Amino acid sequence: MMDRPFDLDPLFRPLSILPGVGPRNAKLLEKLAGGPKVLDLLWHMPVDFIDRRFSGGVAQAQNGQVVTLTLSVDKHSPAKRKGLPTRVTCHDDTGAISLVFFHAKKDWLLKQLPEGNQIVVSGRVEYFQGQPQIVHPDAIGKTGDRSMIERIEPVYPLTQGITNKVLNKVLSRALSIVPELPEWLDTAHKSRNTWPGWKDAVLSLHAPQSDADLLPLSPARARLAYDELLANQLTLILVREHQRAIEGRSYAQSTVLRDKVMASLPFSLTGAQQRSLREIDEDMQKPLRMLRLLQGDVGSGKTIVACLAMLNAVEAGHQAALMAPTEILARQHAHSLAPFLAAAGVRTVTLTGRDKGKTRDVLLSQIQNGAAQIIIGTHAIFQRDVLYHDLGLAVIDEQHRFGVQQRLELASKNHGIDLLVMTATPIPRTLALTAYGDLDVSRLDEKPPGRKPIETLLLPVDKIDTLTERLRVKIREGHRIYWVCPLVEESDLVDFAAAEQRYDILRQSFGERVGLIHGRMKPAEKDAVMDQFISGDLDILVSTTVIEVGVNVPEATIMVIEEAERFGLAQLHQLRGRVGRGAEQSYCFLLYSGPLGETAKERLSTLRETEDGFVIAEKDLELRGSGDVLGVRQSGMAEFRLADLSAHSALLSAARDDAKLIVSKDSGLVSARGKALRTLLYLFERDQAIEYFKSG
Ligand code: ADP
Ligand code: MG
Repeated sequence: MMDRPFDLDPLFRPLSILPGVGPRNAKLLEKLAGGPKVLDLLWHMPVDFIDRRFSGGVAQAQNGQVVTLTLSVDKHSPAKRKGLPTRVTCHDDTGAISLVFFHAKKDWLLKQLPEGNQIVVSGRVEYFQGQPQIVHPDAIGKTGDRSMIERIEPVYPLTQGITNKVLNKVLSRALSIVPELPEWLDTAHKSRNTWPGWKDAVLSLHAPQSDADLLPLSPARARLAYDELLANQLTLILVREHQRAIEGRSYAQSTVLRDKVMASLPFSLTGAQQRSLREIDEDMQKPLRMLRLLQGDVGSGKTIVACLAMLNAVEAGHQAALMAPTEILARQHAHSLAPFLAAAGVRTVTLTGRDKGKTRDVLLSQIQNGAAQIIIGTHAIFQRDVLYHDLGLAVIDEQHRFGVQQRLELASKNHGIDLLVMTATPIPRTLALTAYGDLDVSRLDEKPPGRKPIETLLLPVDKIDTLTERLRVKIREGHRIYWVCPLVEESDLVDFAAAEQRYDILRQSFGERVGLIHGRMKPAEKDAVMDQFISGDLDILVSTTVIEVGVNVPEATIMVIEEAERFGLAQLHQLRGRVGRGAEQSYCFLLYSGPLGETAKERLSTLRETEDGFVIAEKDLELRGSGDVLGVRQSGMAEFRLADLSAHSALLSAARDDAKLIVSKDSGLVSARGKALRTLLYLFERDQAIEYFKSG
């Protein structure tokens, strides 16, 4: 980045500039550190340490203890046979000890440990046939090196080809070029927490002195995590501030179209739907832009809320667009909204990647000349050549498939339009802040009435035949079944093989009315199979996790999940949410191949006990840590290097308050602290925010 403060330069240099790092090591270190920069390596945190401080002599060294000894070298006894070690006997004032080397080169050893000289070694002492020895000392040096060797050595996660010794050496070079940076933390906040300055925090991160220093809330780690969270929150709030500053539209409050649609609805809205809609209406009536998240569990009825919101825009003479993450979902939205929109006489088009040539041209011209009032589709609807007559509102469904970056891009490309983002992922409050901190939130925390709770059963896989017989009866009664195959390796290839195998077996016992859908099929093929299942031509739909998002088939009442113990909690919840959408009793069978570990047990029993997505999400965060919660990894929306939200959630709320206050007082980041905060944003490469203060 061009305008990055000079201070930061050493941190952004490639690892290869560090002395002792060759091209081969640079590659390995880059892999280990998760990035090519010096900074990436600095963020590679130790997980343990070895205490090499030891003031005793040979006689005081306990079996198994790591010691540092100053010794006189007495004699080299080379290996007598292949496979036997070389022994080097040594002593100090208190006793004798041997150093043991397998496959050692004689000359090298003699040079390292000249007979008659004093040396310093460090390593783990073992007693062998009553005598102390050290096999392959970790460090050998001259007497003058003692202070360098006798220290607390941090222990890092490693990769093949990089030893802890090498890593320590490289890190000490990296640490030697860590710059002083201006302090961006609020002084009072910093001293209240007894946090070190940034440079000191980095240095102590790599110099743990006790177990306490390895904990996520140690002063150094907490400070660095806070920095990262502050950069995240400051970015979101700056972006929000700038987005809101762009004038939005203020819609009239007439509701002719909405009244028509409401009259044609076969149900009345839930309290939560009404409340969310009121919040949306208020946003849309204000001249500010709407930037709102509609968060609601699977089946909570987000689609109709989106539809009614879109009618606000249409009623005021503008267009509205609804974007879904997949072809199937886009078509399903179009299909399920069609009767309502038709009742109100609203002209709707559907545009997906499948529309090509003439068809596409016709659709594009309808969008451009305003003939199309509501546009439903996949991301195809926001491609560059899609020109809108007058877009007023964009609704993005199932946000977690898009990620925060794409959302920000979309928002900045379409100046002034209102934005409604919908997600079915019940994200814990803490995570929601990191991902959606720039949005206002409406929650659909109430399900439409009349749904029976889903009966969830755990079943060892060897009971699969009993299950099959039970399913046969259910099919005869008209039920439809989802059968999800395990996510073995998060690899399409392997998942696909498992699903295909199950499909073959089920075909043998259930015949033709079994279908298969998986991620390697073309979109059109997927849609075709899905359509067969929706229309009832198939009784059983075998799949990998491609059905996870949004699909609505009310007649499907049974969900079978194989090797359920392999799935994450939130993901199981999403899958289960595919059933229980009609008036019939629904079932979810979780098949497992035992014995189950503690976490797996807890996961599955949580699922059996509750259907509340928010409860499940909190539990998921607790059991797995923030990085693993469904959707987080895929979308890259909350990937932190230093912060771990299962440990640092209190820091997140503090960072949020801090960021709000900063922006309310100094949104241009021009005060002294503001300038330091710019450095922070550069440090974490928050380009979205940087753009704003650079331009204004
Ligand atoms: P999701 O929030 O998962 O997107 P949908 O919008 O697909 O949920 O709604 C799930 C089902 O519930 C649909 O069949 C929809 O018509 C129905 N539905 C929505 N709101 C209500 C309501 N207030 N009462 C009864 N059924 C409703
Ligand atoms: Mg939906």
